[in-house]
Amino acid sequence: MCRYCQIIPEKVLIALSHDEDLPADARERLTATMRHDHQLRQFRDSARQLVMAKRPFQAFSVTLTQTPDIPVYTCNNGMTLPGVQIADPGNSSDPQVKTTFNTTSDVERFYRSVFNRNSIDGNGMTILSSVHYGRDYNNAFWNGSQMAYGDGDGQIFTAFCDSADVVGHELTHGVTQYTLGLDYENQAGGLNESLSDAFGSLFKQWVKGQSTDEADWLIGNDILGPAARQKYTCLRDMADPTNAHCMGGQIAHFRDYRDGMDPHETSGIANHAFYLIATRLGGKSWDKAGPIWYDALTRNGSNPDMTMAEFAGATKASAARLFPGDTAVAKAVDSGWADVGIALAGV
Ligand SMILES: [Zn+2]
Repeated sequence: MCRYCQIIPEKVLIALSHDEDLPADARERLTATMRHDHQLRQFRDSARQLVMAKRPFQAFSVTLTQTPDIPVYTCNNGMTLPGVQIADPGNSSDPQVKTTFNTTSDVERFYRSVFNRNSIDGNGMTILSSVHYGRDYNNAFWNGSQMAYGDGDGQIFTAFCDSADVVGHELTHGVTQYTLGLDYENQAGGLNESLSDAFGSLFKQWVKGQSTDEADWLIGNDILGPAARQKYTCLRDMADPTNAHCMGGQIAHFRDYRDGMDPHETSGIANHAFYLIATRLGGKSWDKAGPIWYDALTRNGSNPDMTMAEFAGATKASAARLFPGDTAVAKAVDSGWADVGIALAGV
């Protein structure tokens, strides 16, 4: 069953809300966010089932050439979606409206220019975002049909739209929903989360023009507020998933994997494989590692229960297809997955 997806996992919100080093009022706001997220998860399950039901018809649809609309709405600190539409969001005096429009437009350009993909569904789908969702709401989410960004409480988290990797991560959940259609539990859940981190990091590197050795490989380092920065550097670290500077603890090797673990935790395995492969290939990660990952994500139809070994096998096949005869690429892919304990399987 696929869940409603937020950037801050429930487990992290629970841990922070029990952390007595943090201010009591901040802990209360984390608990409020947690309660709200719990209710919203049910909605995402039903949205995904609707998409899966529509899939056979989409196979015959024609890709549009025009760029998708990117409307931005404001919830004015309420919780009714989408809220009120902002006219001309690219020139708004509200910095969150303007940033959300600009970063979402950049994600659209990233998928179009690097992967020749027309929006989230590959078919020019409107990319709708709502800002100022809730009051002091400590999360951002993709609900199966749109994005919503909280302002953060200013202590633990700041405005969620300010982070390129968060925006890229969440919109990639939409891309995964329309391609592999991965579930949100066990190995498929970890893959689902990891694909969002990989493309979120790729997007941030692309925006900044960074090579693999210049990239920070961190997820969520731009949304930590001053109280959180006393203890943490980021939400996740693809280069070092188990490091204590990460707010959300992860595993980095398949020997530590167990069914039933949180997808945000098991995603560390595939995250680290992507980091190893991209850095071993060097240069810009969207030149080789990114296209291999995108090809594996989009050329294998719907596979909700895909295992990590199957996805690894798909990346090997994609590497051979995209870079035939390039032994350095093949070696990087094989060694990256081997180093996180994944034996490649056919798909
Ligand atoms: Zn996610």
